Amino acid sequence: MIATNKSYALPPALQNQIRITWNVSHWCNYDCSYCGVLVYSRRGPERQAHSFDYYPVADWIAAFQRIQKERVVLKVLGGEPFMDRANWKQLLQALLPDPRFAFDIFTNGSWNADYFKDLPNKEKAGLIVSFHSSKTAFEPWRERLLRIRDAGFTIHSVVTVLAPENEAEAERFHAVMSSDGFVAELRPMIPAGVYRDRKNAPPPLDCDFTPAVAWMQALRNKTKGLPCYFPSASYDLEWNGEIRVSCLNRPWTDFIREPLPETPPAAVNCPLDTCIGCMEMAYSMPANPFVPPPIHIVTRGEFAGEVRQVKAATAASPDYLQKTLTGTPMPDGVTDCYDAFTNRFIDEPPVQFDIPADRIFQALPDAPAIGYLDNFLTPLELRSSDRITVSGWAYNANPAGPVKQIQVNFAGQTLRTIEEFSPRPELLEVFGRKEMLRTGFGAILFIPPVPAGEYQLSAVAVDHQGNRHPLPPQSVRVIA
Ligand code: SF4
Ligand code: SF4
Repeated sequence: MIATNKSYALPPALQNQIRITWNVSHWCNYDCSYCGVLVYSRRGPERQAHSFDYYPVADWIAAFQRIQKERVVLKVLGGEPFMDRANWKQLLQALLPDPRFAFDIFTNGSWNADYFKDLPNKEKAGLIVSFHSSKTAFEPWRERLLRIRDAGFTIHSVVTVLAPENEAEAERFHAVMSSDGFVAELRPMIPAGVYRDRKNAPPPLDCDFTPAVAWMQALRNKTKGLPCYFPSASYDLEWNGEIRVSCLNRPWTDFIREPLPETPPAAVNCPLDTCIGCMEMAYSMPANPFVPPPIHIVTRGEFAGEVRQVKAATAASPDYLQKTLTGTPMPDGVTDCYDAFTNRFIDEPPVQFDIPADRIFQALPDAPAIGYLDNFLTPLELRSSDRITVSGWAYNANPAGPVKQIQVNFAGQTLRTIEEFSPRPELLEVFGRKEMLRTGFGAILFIPPVPAGEYQLSAVAVDHQGNRHPLPPQSVRVIA
């Protein structure tokens, strides 16, 4: 049970208001290589990761309308929420006129605004529209975006991800979008999708920040123990109708049939080592000196308004952000916020571990290289062309040094070569060898189109002399 922080009672603006982050579906018409969602783009005969496959839209509408709160901010994530357009339109038709509901909807803007032209209160459907240069050319995407705005939707911001394939377009995207009057965000690429083994890509220095988000980044999202109101007014809702209070690892309950679970009556001390660090979270932390009072549920529209103010202040005084952050100590009481912000992408020294000399650890198997695909004993069942997550660890004990590369193979093809490794602290616990810490690997990748049948997913650890060490394979059944 998480203790609440009694010094931080709920401010009035959070007492009768909630945010629900609704992961509405994994459907998407795109398959961006940096996407962390196991997207798919066709409705099959079986139930899929889509809210309207689990319950009819009428059940979702009834469950939302039953919420006994004065204000409900629905943050909608996917996949692409507008793809199942008939059901989605019906949901918006029911909830947009209700004054209690506000929407922050993340979309790739690939849909036709005409289809939604008769929706009521379209201005309440606040959109964050992403541009993916490997999936659509800029000009047609921009035309669709302008049509969406002209149709009456509110566009809070437009976003592109600073993945390698988008970098060439990022500057033009930022310039044209800004001149069109949009708040244009260049979002750092996080380790996800095929880049799961990469590090965060730093944004350019002139990227748009608010001081509150800069503080969270300066903290490197390391929030454990700091007071936070986010779980006191926030829920995570999944496509299968399960809901739970955010961040607290409490059991999921049934959103469609049961009342909302209770949220903590005050701030909690953050139970997690690292926060995802979304804007919504940065603005829920009373220790964040740059959150404009009073603390409340900040929508993307308000955030975009503050970004515009910061841009105007920076245009008048280019060192505005530096001046604002400098002189504010971070929670350790020592580090200056601006220094921490500018150093936020610099690697930290590795964590030091003490391995007691007298502790008995499991012996290493007598093999030049060891390792596993996580869950290799559990057969996978999937469809041809599905996207899957692969992870595991590999350690090479022979004099050829650590593993240099992992090749992930399927049906005779190498699907991915991984050369960056992540910490697996549990191996230290088991084997007591410091050199086993950074042996984890992972990737999200597509299975190639193959006929139905039995296959093997395998990983080969390649050492620095080019020796190849196969790890135990995982069996895969591809269904039609
Ligand atoms: S990043 Fe967005 S648009 Fe691209 S595949 Fe993922 S959900 Fe779809
Ligand atoms: S993980 Fe982030 S949002 Fe959740 S309690 Fe911690 S600081 Fe707050």
